[in-house]
Amino acid sequence: LPAAFIGAQQVLQVIEKHGYEAYFVGGSVRDTLLNLPIHDVDLATSAYPAEIKQIFPRTIDTGIEHGTVTVLHHKHSYEITTFRTESGYQDYRRPDRVTFVRSLREDLMRRDFTVNALAMRENGEVIDLFSGISDLRRHIIRAVGNPNERFHEDALRMMRAVRFGSQLDFTIEAATMAAIQTNSPLLEKIAVERIHVEFVKMLLGIAPLRGFQQMLTTDLLRYVPVLNDEVDSIAALIKHPLAQRLADETQVWSWLAFSLGWNAPRIRKTLQAWKSSKQLISAVTSVTSALQALLDHQLTNWRLYKTGAQNLATAAQVAVVLGHDDETQSLQQRYDQLPIHNKHELNIDGKQLIQAGVKPGPQLGQLLNQLEQQVVAGTIANEQDQLLAAARTQSEA
Ligand code: ATP
Ligand code: MG
Repeated sequence: LPAAFIGAQQVLQVIEKHGYEAYFVGGSVRDTLLNLPIHDVDLATSAYPAEIKQIFPRTIDTGIEHGTVTVLHHKHSYEITTFRTESGYQDYRRPDRVTFVRSLREDLMRRDFTVNALAMRENGEVIDLFSGISDLRRHIIRAVGNPNERFHEDALRMMRAVRFGSQLDFTIEAATMAAIQTNSPLLEKIAVERIHVEFVKMLLGIAPLRGFQQMLTTDLLRYVPVLNDEVDSIAALIKHPLAQRLADETQVWSWLAFSLGWNAPRIRKTLQAWKSSKQLISAVTSVTSALQALLDHQLTNWRLYKTGAQNLATAAQVAVVLGHDDETQSLQQRYDQLPIHNKHELNIDGKQLIQAGVKPGPQLGQLLNQLEQQVVAGTIANEQDQLLAAARTQSEA
């Protein structure tokens, strides 16, 4: 068993010793069988939450109404969820009722795809009730049960199919694919935040362009905010293979923004519609304009400086994704050689300017800003006497 399982293995053993069933479930089982690294280990049990709390002295009610309890065991914490079924799916979204059950089968039946519906005992024995292993071997994403019904229960699963297809480089099985095509308008019922998560994971996968292509052919793309206006441009864009994988969300949106020619207001509009953080919006805006300048060979020192080390590194990565390795060669060196890298490195501040006779007020800020630009451009040295002299002449002018 992979190291990440070892601690959880003991927890499963303790639960079994008390006469209940307990398993590893979900992505960790799938990824172990595929020899992929695992991130989160999901545990499921036939014991009810109250029973788990009797077994382990230290627990936290993490999501007790959904059956999830956090167990503290040997200084680590483990989330354990009671087997459950879901019912009362309204508006094609999450269920409004969960029922705890004792049967593993019922718990696995509510899961989305056969490769995600595998369970593994603490001794490594795999329980495969829906031919998940066969689908893993054949690299297939297939809904558990009737795909039409499953997408009616929760329309987000259509995005998840496309996401896992890209992440694992698997094919979506024909009936599952056909059901996505039929039910794609239901995606409109889903909160954009949930679509967002799957969309970004799709583009971070191994086969992102095929994922995008599948969103096009199934019409899923017509039911997501703002991008639904750009179906034709996206169809053209995904004909060009990426030279390297996208590595994080800032790269994902910067690649899209640059490739689709979005200006700053368009970036803001799109990312706001996708409920992104202010931080992400500002990073993508900065990376995209640096990238544009870089590929136009118009990246000034001032732009380098304002972009900053981190966004500049991201811009360089996206340039490589787009196949422009050459342009990124001397970028880091150019940045390192800037006379200063932030305002605080400027060898003068407002207080010193006032002492030297400059009047406080808006002009003072302007003057500092001018000096900062001149230092970055290399037209004044970052030396206090020279900065003061320049300040005197410029404030008199
Ligand atoms: P990842 O590697 O991205 O974490 P994962 O398979 O663990 O992949 P999660 O979104 O963390 O995916 O969900 C954990 C498990 O819960 C899934 O493997 C699946 O069994 C089940 N699951 C999650 N979301 C849904 C859903 N919308 N419908 C049905 N089952 C779901
Ligand atoms: Mg997971």
